[in-house]
Amino acid sequence: MKPEEAASDTVLVIEDEADVLELLRYNLDRAGFRVLLAGDGRSGLDEARAARPDVIVLDLMLPEMRGEEVCRKLKSSGDTASIPVIMLTAKAQVDERVAGLELGADDYVAKPFSPRELVLRVQAVLRRMRAPGPGGSLVLGPFELDRGTFEVRLEGAKLDLTAIEFKLAAALMEKRGAPISRETLLRDVWGYRNPIDSRTVDTHMRRLRAKLGPHAGCFATVRGAGYRFDAGGTED
Ligand code: CA
Repeated sequence: MKPEEAASDTVLVIEDEADVLELLRYNLDRAGFRVLLAGDGRSGLDEARAARPDVIVLDLMLPEMRGEEVCRKLKSSGDTASIPVIMLTAKAQVDERVAGLELGADDYVAKPFSPRELVLRVQAVLRRMRAPGPGGSLVLGPFELDRGTFEVRLEGAKLDLTAIEFKLAAALMEKRGAPISRETLLRDVWGYRNPIDSRTVDTHMRRLRAKLGPHAGCFATVRGAGYRFDAGGTED
């Protein structure tokens, strides 16, 4: 069992130089990411809106639509505003860097860069995004996950969850919609090294859902894959 099989993160690379694109595709793929590619700003923006990747690597100098404009549009639309953007700048120019960060880019990497460094930056930006800051919380739809107080609030009201139910909810919410297999949940939530009975997960999931009223469907079953969090989910 590969831990990332059901939940590998997707990176969208928007870059017009074919050799850079191929270098990134190869290295990100090797690091376990699912990789999507776009060769110009316009199709990159369309792809970002359609596929909602976990991270976007965005070149500044692009045909059709420049990287700054792509970034501005991504960050000003509710659907894509939360996707972290790593900008590729032509050189380590402070001006470009500052402009990129002002546009809402989450990080930048100056060309020429080492593929290994870029992969590390992608991993770091994902880690940063998923770790709630001190006292911070993760808000997804009507749910709020507070790692500091170990609470989940639904429409502002604290849910009365057991420790296992909290960990189950937290694991799924932190994946933001990517499915997690029962085996991975048994390992990460229960700490079982050799999972034998995945029905344990179903039993606890049923109890968790029973506490969510009309929002039970937000913790959705994915046939053959496990469970996923779906902020807009309805009863299934
Ligand atoms: Ca370019």
